[in-house]
Amino acid sequence: YSNHHDSSKQIDNNNKDVDPLLTIRDEFNIDTEKFKAIVNGFNEECEHGLNATSASGLATMIPSYVTRMPTGQEKGTFLALDLGGSNLRVSAVDLLGDGQVHVVTEIRRTVSDEQRIGSTTDFFDWMADSVKELLDNLSPHYHHQQQEDIVLVNGKHNQKQQSVAMGVCWSFPLDQTGICDGKILRMGKGFTLDNIDGQDLANLFHDAFQRKDINVTVTALLNDTVGTLVAHAYSNPGACVGFIHGTGVNAAYPEKQSRIVKKGDDSENDNIMLVNTEIDIFGNPDYLPLTRFDKALDAHHSQPGFQAYEKMMAGGYLGELVRLIAIELITDDQYLFNGNIPERLKKPWSFTTATMSNLEKVETDEEKLAIFGEWLETDCINDYVPTIEDMIRLSHICCIVSSRAAVLVAAGIAAMIERQNVIITSDDPIIIGVNGSTFEKYPNMQQRVNEALRRYFGDIIFQRIRLGVARDGGSIGGALVAMLYSQSANDKW
Ligand code: BGC
Ligand code: MG
Repeated sequence: YSNHHDSSKQIDNNNKDVDPLLTIRDEFNIDTEKFKAIVNGFNEECEHGLNATSASGLATMIPSYVTRMPTGQEKGTFLALDLGGSNLRVSAVDLLGDGQVHVVTEIRRTVSDEQRIGSTTDFFDWMADSVKELLDNLSPHYHHQQQEDIVLVNGKHNQKQQSVAMGVCWSFPLDQTGICDGKILRMGKGFTLDNIDGQDLANLFHDAFQRKDINVTVTALLNDTVGTLVAHAYSNPGACVGFIHGTGVNAAYPEKQSRIVKKGDDSENDNIMLVNTEIDIFGNPDYLPLTRFDKALDAHHSQPGFQAYEKMMAGGYLGELVRLIAIELITDDQYLFNGNIPERLKKPWSFTTATMSNLEKVETDEEKLAIFGEWLETDCINDYVPTIEDMIRLSHICCIVSSRAAVLVAAGIAAMIERQNVIITSDDPIIIGVNGSTFEKYPNMQQRVNEALRRYFGDIIFQRIRLGVARDGGSIGGALVAMLYSQSANDKW
């Protein structure tokens, strides 16, 4: 996808014979026709998922049971736990009204590679420890000043059983049957916790809280896309899409309940419910233009055949795509490092999206050399010392992969917009909250996504589209949904 801001334009177009990167750039290019096919393909998969009762559609288009959007006037302090692909965040969030939010205190932890493939009990104990730490940090505040502001599940008067309400934002698919009822579906992002599939998420937390003697009750479960949409709507009323572009990808939007056929019993109901699309899983090869590099990545992944769209464009994968391209170009064309393959580059998943992002971020070739040298952990590859020319070429590869990712983000967002008829029914702004480190931090990502949306929708519609970063979507969304549904939680418990 050529973009006049991108440095890839420096590749000489007349030199197709001598520049092997041009072939790869063509393979990664998504023109308007392909883009349209992807948007249509996504829409068809959405329809299939809404109506599905068969295994193929069950894991997508998941009802969230969130049927109310915030007005921005909600107030109170709520606890939220946000498990992302790479990080755990536990926080107390003050909803101040007028769309204002203050994160009172927060515990952040990184999930290690060992934890992802370890014991489910250990993992939930580890999360419970962070909740305990948060409560300890909070306690002077909580006990002396603001006790009445934290929502207590059993009401404020029953001192003995006081339990604090917490919303859990879960960046993985959940088969939800209620705001607080959800069974764990197959987790992506390298998580293969033992025996976790099919378990009740709230129960897993409550068991861990009991083991750790923590008096907290999970009152809401939500996917991070739902959290992002609700959080964005708190300060941007009317928001209609929550999109994540971080380690993984996904989107949520409000759907008429009558159209969520798979949920049953609501054929007359025109009220909305937020739907977690799990668009990450979409990707029939009939419309998704997989390159041989995408196929190679999938083939050596721990969950082959799963999450085709996500593997082409999310932060968990971009670095690996660059690595695969680089290896081929070194092997076949001596395109980099005079034909020497760096030891570290031979290791799958060794080249990360963060390193790519750093390479594209810095201005000068010398800075690129320094960043790459640090990654390489040595000065030379065999006897070869990387040059500035190598860095320019490597950056071009990064740019090709990240530019395609931006176009694919735009295709996902375009499908969510088209589903909602907002285009035809009004002149209102089309407000979209996006959360995720790849979208927020990758150089030029936001401009490239906007550019692709403009190209597809044309200037007039594009002017109504407001892509905004929904920072802290998980924590704020978790707190908000816990708040919006604390009444029903009170009834239930
Ligand atoms: C998960 C989704 C999640 C998305 C973004 C995907 O891998 O399946 O549930 O919303 O990542 O975090
Ligand atoms: Mg997140």
